Amino acid sequence: MTKAACNKSTNRAFIAPFTSTPEDKHRAIALCESCPMRKACARDALTAGTALSQGGPTPANDVIQAGVVCCGDDETLWALSRIAGVTPSIPEPTKAHRPDRCRHCHREMVKWNRYTTQPAGTVKHYARGFCEHCRKPYAEWKKSVGVASAHRGLRKPVDRKRHSAPPKKRGVLTVQPTLFEIG
Ligand code: SF4
Ligand SMILES: [Zn+2]
Repeated sequence: MTKAACNKSTNRAFIAPFTSTPEDKHRAIALCESCPMRKACARDALTAGTALSQGGPTPANDVIQAGVVCCGDDETLWALSRIAGVTPSIPEPTKAHRPDRCRHCHREMVKWNRYTTQPAGTVKHYARGFCEHCRKPYAEWKKSVGVASAHRGLRKPVDRKRHSAPPKKRGVLTVQPTLFEIG
C-alpha cells in the first residue's frame, strides 16, 4: 500500500503551520511535493474544514496538506482543487479578492495604499491575501501551489518611444527626425 510521506514525520508545521517556523513549513511542503498521496491528500483537504455556520464542508484550516498551507478560505480551495485536479465548487475569480485578514499572520488588513502608516491594528494588503509584512510566506506559498509570479513591466508589446519621455539636451526637448525625413 502507498504510504504518506508525512507518516512518521514529527514536524509540527503539518498540524499547526500558523505558529511554526518558516523552515519547518518549508520542510513540510517539500515532503508533500515528493509524496505519492499528494493528489488524494488534496482531495481530502478540500472538505476537511468545519464551518457549520457556512452550511457545508470547507477546506482545511491551519494544517499543511498536499503542500498547501491551508487557511480554510477560497484561496485554499482553489489551490487544493488545482492539485486534486477537480473543478472548484466556486469559480476562481479572474482578479482575486482581498480577504479581511492576512492569510499568514491573520492581522486585519486594509486595501493597499501609498501611506506608510495604517489605521491602528491593521496592516496593508500586499498580494493574494498576504499582508506587506508576510512577503516571505507569500513567496513560499506561491512556490508551494505553483502560482507564477505576477507579470512585471509593461503588459503588452508597445511602441516604447510612445511610452517614454522625449529626450532632452541641456534641458531642451529634442525630437529625433524619422528616417524618411533624413532621407
Ligand atoms: S501530501 Fe498529504 S499525505 Fe503526503 S506528505 Fe503531504 S500532508 Fe502528508
Ligand atoms: Zn501577514
